[in-house]
Amino acid sequence: MKDNNCIFCKLANGEIPTATIYEDEDFRVILDANPAAKGHALILPKEHYANLYELDDELAGKSMILAKKMITKLTKALDCDGYNIVQNNGEAAGQTVFHYHVHMIPRHKDDKVGLGWTMHELTEEEKALKEKQIADLKASIERRKKLLANENYVSKAPAALVEKERLTLASEIEALELLEK
Ligand code: 5GP
Ligand code: ZN
Repeated sequence: MKDNNCIFCKLANGEIPTATIYEDEDFRVILDANPAAKGHALILPKEHYANLYELDDELAGKSMILAKKMITKLTKALDCDGYNIVQNNGEAAGQTVFHYHVHMIPRHKDDKVGLGWTMHELTEEEKALKEKQIADLKASIERRKKLLANENYVSKAPAALVEKERLTLASEIEALELLEK
């Protein structure tokens, strides 16, 4: 169904001409009128759905597959370094046009495109939990390092077990780096 009062219905169905970069029977992909970055595009279904809650399951899947196809091509065409896929639902979430759409925003390393949210400040409880996770991880890393430095253990334990300890150690170190960021 179309909604006669909806601008995106008109754009998606070509009633109002607009810069179109792709079209098939279900969707039209257009350039955003107020781009966050050069090449910022929108996937619009031709039928009217206000948001993802309302969107037909099959079209929801198709819109993400189309996003994948588009950004794969556009990353090469625009020579960008990455893409943000953004999809807002409801005024509280920043939706301003109430016809489902997927934003595709090309990104370049060190560009100044801001997507407008800040990480929330951790509560005291969350901070304490994080500190405990860090301390536990550090202790576990030390224990595992000692174990793997023990020639006796390494030569006698089954090779698969030693390998598993090494892999666990590597992922613990990675997790610690992420937590300490
Ligand atoms: P939302 O905030 O609803 O997720 O995004 C709406 C987007 O639609 C905005 O990025 C805005 O720039 C874009 N937009 C609004 N009106 C028009 C229009 O008439 N033509 C085009 N091409 N983009 C529009
Ligand atoms: Zn519409």
